[in-house]
Amino acid sequence: MDIELSNEDLEFRNEVRAFFEENAYKNGEDFNKWRMDWFAKAREKGGWDVPKWPKEFGGPGWTPTQHYIWEQETATANLPWDLPFGLGMLAPVLMAHGSKEQQDRFLPDIRDRKVNWCQGYSEPGAGSDLAGLKTKAELSADGTHYVVNGTKIWTTMAHIADWIFCLTRTDDSGIKQQGITFLLFPMKQEGIEVKPIITLGGSHSVNTVFLTDVKVPVENRIGEEGQGWTYAKGLLQHERTGLAGISRSLVALEKLKEQAASVPRGNATLMDDPAFRGKIAELEVDLWATEYTELRSLASAAAGAAPGPESSILKLKGTEIQQRIQKLTVEAGGIYSASWGAKPAGPAFAKNGMGGYMSSRAYTIYGGASEVQKDVIAKNVLQIKRSSK
Ligand SMILES: Cc1cc2nc3c(=O)[nH]c(=O)nc-3n(C[C@H](O)[C@H](O)[C@H](O)COP(=O)(O)OP(=O)(O)OC[C@H]3O[C@@H](n4cnc5c(N)ncnc54)[C@H](O)[C@@H]3O)c2cc1C
Repeated sequence: MDIELSNEDLEFRNEVRAFFEENAYKNGEDFNKWRMDWFAKAREKGGWDVPKWPKEFGGPGWTPTQHYIWEQETATANLPWDLPFGLGMLAPVLMAHGSKEQQDRFLPDIRDRKVNWCQGYSEPGAGSDLAGLKTKAELSADGTHYVVNGTKIWTTMAHIADWIFCLTRTDDSGIKQQGITFLLFPMKQEGIEVKPIITLGGSHSVNTVFLTDVKVPVENRIGEEGQGWTYAKGLLQHERTGLAGISRSLVALEKLKEQAASVPRGNATLMDDPAFRGKIAELEVDLWATEYTELRSLASAAAGAAPGPESSILKLKGTEIQQRIQKLTVEAGGIYSASWGAKPAGPAFAKNGMGGYMSSRAYTIYGGASEVQKDVIAKNVLQIKRSSK
């Protein structure tokens, strides 16, 4: 695709930059108020608060190049935090498969950032083999509600979430992809217990969620009973595209080069070291190649297509690149990177080196492990058939 910026595109870029500058957080401001005002003003710009939503649901209806510009500019701007679960994952499923009532009920609160969602997919025995999930949902005798029992694990932000979108099993008589039902229910209710899991990076973001006789009204079911696998897969493709983080990596790589140029090595700096430069060059080439794949994906999304299996290429390459940046940051920080958690020493950037590296181990696991993405690419992009032997 052509990414030469036209005069209109340059004008759009200036407008985006001006918006970010005018609405930047100012020291001492009430953070929550600033965050909500920011989204309200972005909405007034014509759907800038929901850039990836289609026009018919209030999105801006940008061209692929405008999306590209937005991605580039958001990577360096200081934007209010946003969780992806409602806005980027559940919303597209509601738009494609939810009833009009469900769209009217849930989309406005997602857009207004009033309700935090979490994703109840993985279970202790069902991660890569997600279709093997066992959390059971039984329809009540009067057909008004489901009773849900089971355990979800690795549920990000379950401890602050108001609602969960949850895969449940309503029938186990057929193949495992059949009989899965997609339910929505509030987290703050009887029968739900959330226990924290502290990860390698030392932070609390994931949890185990125990579900005991949780009542879910049938009107909270997305689509048809037993058809949840189709909806779940569509959501995963949106999730995977969102995890690639290409623009952020482009910025992080430039920062890494600056950091390496500040580390003395002999009479010069680490950035002059041929071995280190080689690693940076290899990373940069991979990053550019992945950026072009993202641009193709943006172009088809802007033309109205849902993300396809190519989202697995973005997830695979994008997360590996993020990990390589973290690894080289630790390398650039040298022995000082090891002072993680203790009193920092050496260059300032080394302080977060090891914590970032540890946390980055999860990037190639969540949203579907790298091996699973390779399987999807082999089957659905390269059309390689499994050997019958
Ligand atoms: C930080 C973090 C946040 C997460 N957040 C959420 C969340 O919010 N909601 C949610 O539902 N889940 C979440 N997950 C779960 C995540 O999606 C799973 O961890 C992931 O799908 C892998 O499943 P698993 O942990 O059961 O590992 P397993 O499936 O047991 O895999 C173990 C290893 O075996 C490999 N493997 C498995 N099957 C194959 C195969 N067929 N071929 C080759 N290799 C294979 C895997 O690649 C992996 O290396 C999160 C995970 C992490 C680490």
